[in-house]
Amino acid sequence: MTALQQAADTASAAAFARAQQVIPGGVNSPVRAFRSVGGTPRFIARAQGPYLYDLDGHELVDLICSWGPMLLGHAHPEVIGAVTAAAQHGTSYGAPTTAEVDLAAAIVERTPVEMVRLVNSGTEATMSVLRLARGITGRDKIVKFAGCYHGHVDALLASAGSGVATLAIPGTPGVTEATTADTIVVEYNDRAAVREAFATYGDQIACLISEAACGNMGVVPPGEEDGVGFNRFLADLCHEHGALFISDEVMTGFRVTASGQFGIDGVEPDLMTFGKVMGGGFPAAAFGGRAELMHSLAPVGGVYQAGTLSGNPVATAAGLTTLRLATPEVYAHVDRAAALLQREVAAALSAAGVPHVIQAAGNLFSVFFVGEDVDAVADYATASTQVTTRYAAFFHSMLDSGVYLPPSAYEGWFLSSAHDDAALDRVVSALPAAAAAAAGA
Ligand code: PMP
Repeated sequence: MTALQQAADTASAAAFARAQQVIPGGVNSPVRAFRSVGGTPRFIARAQGPYLYDLDGHELVDLICSWGPMLLGHAHPEVIGAVTAAAQHGTSYGAPTTAEVDLAAAIVERTPVEMVRLVNSGTEATMSVLRLARGITGRDKIVKFAGCYHGHVDALLASAGSGVATLAIPGTPGVTEATTADTIVVEYNDRAAVREAFATYGDQIACLISEAACGNMGVVPPGEEDGVGFNRFLADLCHEHGALFISDEVMTGFRVTASGQFGIDGVEPDLMTFGKVMGGGFPAAAFGGRAELMHSLAPVGGVYQAGTLSGNPVATAAGLTTLRLATPEVYAHVDRAAALLQREVAAALSAAGVPHVIQAAGNLFSVFFVGEDVDAVADYATASTQVTTRYAAFFHSMLDSGVYLPPSAYEGWFLSSAHDDAALDRVVSALPAAAAAAAGA
């Protein structure tokens, strides 16, 4: 019996069948549905430390960490304590609290921003920051990179048009051509393309938004040319043209270092977005920048932005406690664990003769199942050459051995300070069989 057939009579399969009756595709975020790897998604009953426990009682080493937030692992006792205490004082007031100020101050302390506004999701942060950039500059157009994901903001769900400096086309039904007509999409790490976009539309461009290091096409770090990093290049080009440079650190912020990708390349953006780790597993995100820019927001300035649950006390308690516990030791541990897994994955795949490229941005890394001729992935066009059937075989073999990888070949692998030797050993022991499965796919 294959793993897929076996899955048919599990508690997860029953839950998935029921879910599909009432939730489109049975999931509340598409990648959870296992569409790109096949099979039945595991329904999770609980999580602790580095482990997820599914409805059928399987213990799985979690290499997703909720797609980033769980830097300290699941159900960290101090985070749970803070959340419980906060909830006992009421769960939402619709009026300001000092804890929100503390969380804002904690973000300001760790990053180059001077002020932040708290919101509920990364999507909300990027949507709001685009409005702010357009409001400040009085310009309409925005530049983004193919393969960078910034949440499901209409203007950012855009695909490249037919030439470099052409306006984008809608990336999904429901996004209008008028919406994407103000979006310009270029390939990541392609300096000539970005220069051309600014040469063509420079005085109409409000901002350029980029993932600080890409994690949403697999991990593609900003490249270096003649000693100048890609983010530095982008910031300088934006400023030459009076546009704002927005660095999206929703995924990398407080994860790849205490101050995110900024802690690696030190490029100071005009505006930034944050999420994931700063919410400690609750819906919390933020956007921020220099005070002079942030003062354009209501109620000080004219750019409107608001939220019933923004700065929610329970989410704020989780975020603050997570940031407080994210000590240098936590990052050192996650860095070591990430380095170990990269070495072991590379060794197992090489031993099985599976061509691959492993790339990292700090402790965030991913494995590209690309052809032998590819030795680095600098952009989405190259990332898209992956042999995804190999990843699917690798993924299912790992899952059968109790390791939960991202159910897509285009995602980063996330670790936490709770990933101890026992959890990492389980991952390492599962690798040879998974590499063999990939080789046979
Ligand atoms: N920006 C980046 C870089 C992200 O990785 C994500 C989510 N993966 C988002 C924005 C959107 O965040 P959310 O899912 O919280 O809306």
